[in-house]
Amino acid sequence: MTQDLIRTISCADDYDPDSMPVDKARRFIRDFLEPVQTRESLALRAALGCVLAQDILSPCNVPNHNNSAMDGYALNADDLAASGATTLRVIGTALAGKEFPGEVGKGECVRIMTGAVMPQSCDTVVIQERVQLKDERITFDEGVKRGQNLRYAGEDLKLGQTVFSAGHLVRPADLGLIASLGIAEVKVYRKLRVAFFSTGDELASIGEPLASGQVYDSNRYTLYGMLTRLGVEVIDMGVVRDDPALLEQALNDAAACADVILTSGGVSVGEADYMKQLLNKLGQVVFWKIAMKPGRPLAYGKIGNAHYFGLPGNPVSVMVTFYQFVRDAMLVLMGQPDPAPIQQFQVICSGNIKKAPGRTEFQRGILSTDKNGQLKVEPMGNQGSGVLRSMSEANCFIVLPEACGNIAAGEMVSVQLLSEFV
Ligand code: AMP
Ligand code: MG
Repeated sequence: MTQDLIRTISCADDYDPDSMPVDKARRFIRDFLEPVQTRESLALRAALGCVLAQDILSPCNVPNHNNSAMDGYALNADDLAASGATTLRVIGTALAGKEFPGEVGKGECVRIMTGAVMPQSCDTVVIQERVQLKDERITFDEGVKRGQNLRYAGEDLKLGQTVFSAGHLVRPADLGLIASLGIAEVKVYRKLRVAFFSTGDELASIGEPLASGQVYDSNRYTLYGMLTRLGVEVIDMGVVRDDPALLEQALNDAAACADVILTSGGVSVGEADYMKQLLNKLGQVVFWKIAMKPGRPLAYGKIGNAHYFGLPGNPVSVMVTFYQFVRDAMLVLMGQPDPAPIQQFQVICSGNIKKAPGRTEFQRGILSTDKNGQLKVEPMGNQGSGVLRSMSEANCFIVLPEACGNIAAGEMVSVQLLSEFV
């Protein structure tokens, strides 16, 4: 299969091995993803973050009766005075969960609370703040309209309606909506298993003392966080030294137990040739120089049945490449046929940005509103790909397309919010 990938890439006439545009790399990856097939039934709560493997049809109307949207009095609009005040006699009460059992005749009304079933022959609710109550009679001024403050049966969901199609990612509102149908169990695709490890002789793990020239391994922690937010099963394989035998062992172990393997480091120029040999021995992997900053080196392919993403080592690059490539691929593998792209919108840039045309840049920025309520984005000062603090403090990426050059303060730029996964 990845043989096809390599062939497709080398046959593409506008393919430049030195610089792969971001969108093109994304499309190539997309063409080689096969979603998980195994389904399982889960209790509703456990399905949060999973992808539905069944359509969900509404087995009932929600709500299943016309009911009141407010506390007030239920009446028939035929009884409203043609002009001036209306007076009606209160003959009983309807509470949520306790219907008014009788008939409501001409000139009569029923005290009604929010969520209570509308008494038969009533079609309107006048809110209690509008009425004066005296001697079991209410009086209110003109202006009440037929159908006011009424929630209709099936207004939220109609009997038989498709509420969700297979492939839908279950979010908190969806849990509630499915619960509102009385459905206790749903069929979902099984969780993806994602194994990941960091590579580098210079890496120390937290808890160990830091020797001179070493850095603590932070990539496994950002990856853990992003993967956990995505709702996949994570298999943390630790740090692996830059040693071919150890790397081979780790890649084989990962391929044996995971659907996806993520590594960080070791795919940049200099290291690439060495990883290339190893990865070509174990599977079929392509190495790209992506026309982007940060996150230039990226490897993608298959090792056994597992999809492999070789992310760059720099901590910011790891997060950017995860967000721009891995997230989308993972959603497809989880069973979403067509994941919604990350939302992008235009705002005013409040600072100058230096940029050379020829690559897409994902600068870190802080989005805020000025005193007039106008959204603006301020680029972070230090955009170095090793400065993880910039990711921690930022709340958005400023996406600067390949062709664009310098940006002057006051120009519009595109941003993507980081709140979802990063
Ligand atoms: P590499 O892509 O392996 O050449 O690494 C590029 C840079 O990222 C180097 O400065 C590495 O020390 C750093 N780096 C690589 N892996 C990690 C990691 N897991 N945590 C923190 N920094 C890393
Ligand atoms: Mg390295």
